[in-house]
Amino acid sequence: MFIDSHAHITDDKLFGIVDAIIQNARLAKVEKIVNICTDIKTLERGIELQKRHPNIYNVGATTPHDVETDGAAHFDAFEKAARDGHLNAIGETGLDYFYEHSNRELQQEFLIRYFNLATELNLPVVIHCRDAFDDLFALADQHYKGKLLLHCFTGTTDEAKRALDRGFFLSISGIATFKRSTELRETIKTIPLTSLTIETDSPYLAPQSKRGKMCEPAFVVETAQLIAELKNVSLSEVAETTSATTKAFFSIP
Ligand SMILES: [Zn+2]
Repeated sequence: MFIDSHAHITDDKLFGIVDAIIQNARLAKVEKIVNICTDIKTLERGIELQKRHPNIYNVGATTPHDVETDGAAHFDAFEKAARDGHLNAIGETGLDYFYEHSNRELQQEFLIRYFNLATELNLPVVIHCRDAFDDLFALADQHYKGKLLLHCFTGTTDEAKRALDRGFFLSISGIATFKRSTELRETIKTIPLTSLTIETDSPYLAPQSKRGKMCEPAFVVETAQLIAELKNVSLSEVAETTSATTKAFFSIP
């Protein structure tokens, strides 16, 4: 059994065909999906979807891209959903200095607010981080002692080591299967399998053999296969180990 640890299945691009997507996932042995809600609409859909599909687990926060437009307006809704027990983690929050769609100070401010919320409610945090690891590690060291998952990790071997030193988990997406991702594949070899989860980030980032297609959780198996090859272990060992890590991280039964 596989678990997709990060997908946006209540996003407009996927929600219209969400039942088919969940069925496709099941046929590929992707039994559970962690759905990332990034605004009020995707959050409300996620909470409703979970009632029909108990193997969907919701996580929510405003992304670092959107904190300038939505951060203040949406924080209360994510806080309420978390307090009401609808969320298995807070996120994806974090820092993105590559696109910098929102200014850096505001990204940091909301990251700290979400760290504090997660701490208060004893929830783990899912982090989006691009070109901002120095600030992320500094803010985490100062403001957060709980469990943390770096989603769609594409950092260097040194950044992976600094994350592992802090006990963080790293999630690998279809990017690792792209032809050009040679360095990332070398980095993955240095990360213990027990610190890894696998994700699709659907509807984005379809893996190499599906490039150009809209990504869906069933495709996570291709990333698991790559990790099996890089680590010279069986696909079932990758499935078992990453599923156990994902369950423990998100308190999934
Ligand atoms: Zn995402």
